[in-house]
Amino acid sequence: MANMSPATVRAEIGLHSSAPRGSQETSPSSPFVIETHELRKVYGSGASEQVVLKSIELKVIEGEMIAIVGPSGSGKSTLLHLLAALDMPTSGAVYFRSRALQTLPESHLEDFRNQAVGFVWQRHHLLPDFSAAENVAMPRLMRGAKEAEALGAAKNWLDEVGLSAKARQMAGELSGGEQQRVAIARALVSEPALLLADEPTGDLDEQNADAVFDLMQRLHRNHRLTSILATHNRALAERCHRVLVLEHGELMPLGEIPATRPAH
Ligand code: ADP
Ligand code: MG
Repeated sequence: MANMSPATVRAEIGLHSSAPRGSQETSPSSPFVIETHELRKVYGSGASEQVVLKSIELKVIEGEMIAIVGPSGSGKSTLLHLLAALDMPTSGAVYFRSRALQTLPESHLEDFRNQAVGFVWQRHHLLPDFSAAENVAMPRLMRGAKEAEALGAAKNWLDEVGLSAKARQMAGELSGGEQQRVAIARALVSEPALLLADEPTGDLDEQNADAVFDLMQRLHRNHRLTSILATHNRALAERCHRVLVLEHGELMPLGEIPATRPAH
């Protein structure tokens, strides 16, 4: 793969749905956007060894919105970090559109993290002394986009999250709910296929939590995303297509939401 152009590399790791199929390095097409097989994560060793994820089998089809619930310390963040390739498993595999992330060289993993996945943290991690628009533009700027192009895309996304009027305001001056909406715009500015959110409403009061969740549902639908969010909030979780419970290192379905109740 050494001589491939960046565009070919992106296609090869499935960043575009038009990725060429059938080459030797592409496994048979799978209906799953993201999939895990016997995913295991152990922290520490010897007496301090802690098995956080035992053997997780997760299969997520395109367009699903999945909630992962579970007590604090059960491994929700650990699982999301493995799905985003922000950390590597002790054993087992994560597949993104049939490609095993663990087999990709670091440069391709960077493409995966930067372009295939949007990640929203509980705390927004915005740069407080940069404007809302600059924060949203940052992922594109860091990939070498021209400033005008990156800021243009950022403004469109701020518009989508209802914050075009705040584009020039410093991120540190925004309210908690506004900051989280900016963080969502930043997660989506690279137009990823997969949105991962780690307790995105955890720091917000009920009203703002509802508004941010509504926004994520709308963006999920309008941009044909596949979304996985960890949350403590059962009421919000049950508005997703599926709720999975993570406990004692295992992931189990809480129960399917009937097909007559779409995520809306
Ligand atoms: P949750 O997000 O469900 O609260 P986490 O994934 O953050 O759970 O943590 C699961 C367990 O793994 C916790 O006991 C935590 O202390 C431990 N843990 C998380 N990250 C690390 C790390 N980098 N090193 C050692 N232990 C960790
Ligand atoms: Mg967590």
